[in-house]
Amino acid sequence: MAAVVALLFGLGLDAAHASAYDARPKLVVILVLDQFRGDYLDRYRADFKTEDGFNLFLKKGAYFPECYYDYGNTMTAPGHSTIGTGAYTNGHNIGVNEWWDLSRSKTAMVSSVQDADYPLVGASADAALGASPSNELASTLGDEVVLSTGGRAKLFGVSLKDRAAILTSGHASQAAYWIDHVTGRWESSTYWMKDLPGWVKTFNSSDAVERARKEAGIPTGNFYEKVGATPAAVEYELHFTKALVEAEKLGTHDVTDVLTLSISSTDILGHAVGPDSPEQRKMIDAIDPQLDDFFRFLNTHVDGGLANVWVSLTGDHGVATSPATAAKEGMPAAVFPYAAMNAELNKELDAKLTPGKQTKFVLGGELPFVQIDGESFAAEKMNERAAEQMVAGMIPGALAEVQKGQFSTPDSHALRPATVRHVYTKVQMAAADLPNTEEGRLILHSYTTNGGWWVYVTPGFNQVPGGHGGTGTSHFSPYSYDRHVPLAFFGGPFVPGTYLEQTQPVDIAATFAALLRVNRPSACVGRVVTEAIRPEHEAVP
Ligand SMILES: [Zn+2]
Repeated sequence: MAAVVALLFGLGLDAAHASAYDARPKLVVILVLDQFRGDYLDRYRADFKTEDGFNLFLKKGAYFPECYYDYGNTMTAPGHSTIGTGAYTNGHNIGVNEWWDLSRSKTAMVSSVQDADYPLVGASADAALGASPSNELASTLGDEVVLSTGGRAKLFGVSLKDRAAILTSGHASQAAYWIDHVTGRWESSTYWMKDLPGWVKTFNSSDAVERARKEAGIPTGNFYEKVGATPAAVEYELHFTKALVEAEKLGTHDVTDVLTLSISSTDILGHAVGPDSPEQRKMIDAIDPQLDDFFRFLNTHVDGGLANVWVSLTGDHGVATSPATAAKEGMPAAVFPYAAMNAELNKELDAKLTPGKQTKFVLGGELPFVQIDGESFAAEKMNERAAEQMVAGMIPGALAEVQKGQFSTPDSHALRPATVRHVYTKVQMAAADLPNTEEGRLILHSYTTNGGWWVYVTPGFNQVPGGHGGTGTSHFSPYSYDRHVPLAFFGGPFVPGTYLEQTQPVDIAATFAALLRVNRPSACVGRVVTEAIRPEHEAVP
């Protein structure tokens, strides 16, 4: 026995590291489910029949049901950037999915990953718009792993959505892949490559799209919008990810590879039907065996199997109960008349500042940021502070004006008038001049330099814009339901169990960085979830 021990020590550190588990796994997977609220896993727990689907995290992993984003702008692009970088918007600067940048376009908003310097590759009709991570002003966990290995680690990002594929994986990746919305074919950009690799071309020219369409029962129409809202699109996405793992031989190198994977279908469906619908439950139940299959695949394709894989699971944001559903239960709920409010603001500002000229002062954009046109105000000799203060002051009145007479009969079980909880100006947020409260801290974490001049608006709770007359829903607020996501880790360092300590999605990057002994990402504010880590892994390996 002594001889065997001596022989093992004699093999040195490298051989020891190649054994089943140590602080250098073969593959780290950052798995995101889009619009996956923190209550879903327990709500539907009894439905999960497979061993290595969601139960990989619930039974074999460290599960943190009390995970909340610590900012207010709970949207997809900032959510994925937060997961990748371990920072909030005041650290990575991604505020929303798209915003007005009048220096780049006067006719359309620009997306968080749009970059004309790097045209898309693939057959996209939008090739010229381009894409890159250049708006993300922080490094990601994957970036740090690549840097720490002198570029030897492989890093890839996959999602149906460009922003989810790009912002989670980061800058130093070999590639991010997402789909063309119309055709469903996979694409990337010249930020990473001149042309799609052969295996992606092979995948795109296979019958994979047709099979997904057939499975979904949707032979024609926009792939992303129609097929994307069905479990067939999850299957399609995982099918592609498996092809990536095989082609790039992820998890078979002498350093740790990193894969970020964001499942989009829960969000595409969720906006239309809401979190309480049987359709969304069916979607989540369908994903369980799909994940089981995917992790079994990794078990046979990664050196040493799943014992050499670490996985985190989370969502990029939660979601509000559909206003119609909330109202039925007697909750105050409203459809927020965002477009009408902005039109009213423009009418009132024009009357006040440039009578009869029909000047456009309010651009709108994605809540919680209401963007205004700095040039229009500057032409009237107003600076940013004055312009933002003027708009902030007018918002409650404009909102009341567009709802006048619509709610004359009080009904505690019907939709109610939309309200505003607070409005802050960009100048105020830049100076951290907000109430010294929990809510104030959340809003400060949402600060971005993007989008020109703007005011930050939080409607009352259970209030979302649009949303199919109240039956659909959305997410963008600092309320708990939008900030609540699950957090779970699977892998050798984690002691399986359920932990009720509060965590944040920024803890993923912090925890993996600590366990991998690499620098944490450049703006990371997360904490290491030491309560779930085996003592031997707290020591230097
Ligand atoms: Zn999302």
